[in-house]
Amino acid sequence: MSSWKTPDHASYDIVLIGGAMMGSSTAFWLSQMGYHGRVLVVEMDPSYANCSTAHTNSCVRQQFSNELNIRISQFTADFIRNINEYTGDERVPSIHFQTYGYMYMSGDTEFNTTLKELASLQRSLGAETEFLSTDEIAARYPFYDLDGITGGSINTKDEGYWDGGTVFEWFRRLARERGVEYCQNKVTGLRRVGGQITHVELASGESIACGQVVNAAGPRAATVAEMAGLALPVEPRKRYTWIFSAEDPLDRDLPLTIDPSGVHVRQDGPRTYLAGATPDHDPAVDPTDFSMIDDTWMEKAWPAIATRIPAFERIKLVTEWAGHYAYNVFDQNAVLGRHPDISNFTFLNGFSGHGLQQSPAMGRATAEWLMHGSYRSLDMTPFSMERIVEGRPYMEKAVI
Ligand SMILES: Cc1cc2nc3c(=O)[nH]c(=O)nc-3n(C[C@H](O)[C@H](O)[C@H](O)COP(=O)(O)OP(=O)(O)OC[C@H]3O[C@@H](n4cnc5c(N)ncnc54)[C@H](O)[C@@H]3O)c2cc1C
Repeated sequence: MSSWKTPDHASYDIVLIGGAMMGSSTAFWLSQMGYHGRVLVVEMDPSYANCSTAHTNSCVRQQFSNELNIRISQFTADFIRNINEYTGDERVPSIHFQTYGYMYMSGDTEFNTTLKELASLQRSLGAETEFLSTDEIAARYPFYDLDGITGGSINTKDEGYWDGGTVFEWFRRLARERGVEYCQNKVTGLRRVGGQITHVELASGESIACGQVVNAAGPRAATVAEMAGLALPVEPRKRYTWIFSAEDPLDRDLPLTIDPSGVHVRQDGPRTYLAGATPDHDPAVDPTDFSMIDDTWMEKAWPAIATRIPAFERIKLVTEWAGHYAYNVFDQNAVLGRHPDISNFTFLNGFSGHGLQQSPAMGRATAEWLMHGSYRSLDMTPFSMERIVEGRPYMEKAVI
């Protein structure tokens, strides 16, 4: 392809493969931490039209089942609120953060118990998750039809929608201004000599020498890992999003409501709402497949939404899209840090649908790892590749 660009240098201290949210967060944090080495971001699609970051729903929650994931989201909230201090740059605008919360609905007493346990874990870490009876839900959100619902949990502190797109732009912009080079090219191979990657091979034909390599290739992460001879249990899985307008908008913000059917819906604009669902048949797909060919909307999503919120019987579909989760089939959690067999290949993968909100913490952790060989703020070692190699899942149960 003639639009490939040749990097400015023949060798770099760090090469990041993929320059979307995770690659750019890492590039930003390296620059923020004063890294002096030469950093190259290789990105095959600088329009970012097809990456996960472009198809996200951009929500953040504290309602995870895993303590580390809760702490990561708490850092995200702090980062969003104090972005000028974190970036040291007054030009960065304040980031829109709409904290209507997530409403996890339960349809049986067993799940009630799980939600209560999780709420108590989340509260012990500073979240404000409450378990509500159906009467309490009805009093706060009278628009729901609660037939079949036995309770629900909600947290309206630091949970809801945030403007991840603006943060992405500033990650990129600040990294570039501070000397990180972004190059439009595709990594087609990795030259491995024993336990080291020595060169990154580009679609344009060049081989670039590298000190360290980071796999930030999103749903294509397993393909990049394969180039180093490594297996990574991360698959591109298709996820649908629909935006609709309501003839009779609700009289208050709709929390991101997760129905027992798995369908979710939240406030988007003043009269528009965003819904999402997992197709019932959910195989690994080609990362170029964005088709909306199945009937998930008509057969699954809209019926569930209109049943739960009767006002949504009169709606108009405004737009829809398919995107890809980088889905970790092993334990639905991130894979971070090095592979035991290769000393300079770093994973930043497998975010399974919660990567946008994790990007500030994951980029910071990866920059720490690259600079110091250890984590300095949040300890991310539970996400290491070792757990996969050794068959020890580090589960995240709350995956939407
Ligand atoms: C429908 C949907 C809804 C979501 N909603 C949420 C949400 O509400 N909250 C949340 O936290 N997360 C959400 N996510 C997940 C989140 O969007 C992702 O986890 C996050 O954007 C991942 O960023 P990334 O940089 O790892 O991957 P990507 O954004 O996919 O970027 C990977 C980049 O690598 C590049 N690349 C790949 N291979 C190569 C190569 N060989 N050479 C050069 N470049 C390469 C690609 O071009 C791409 O730009 C959602 C995802 C989807 C699809």
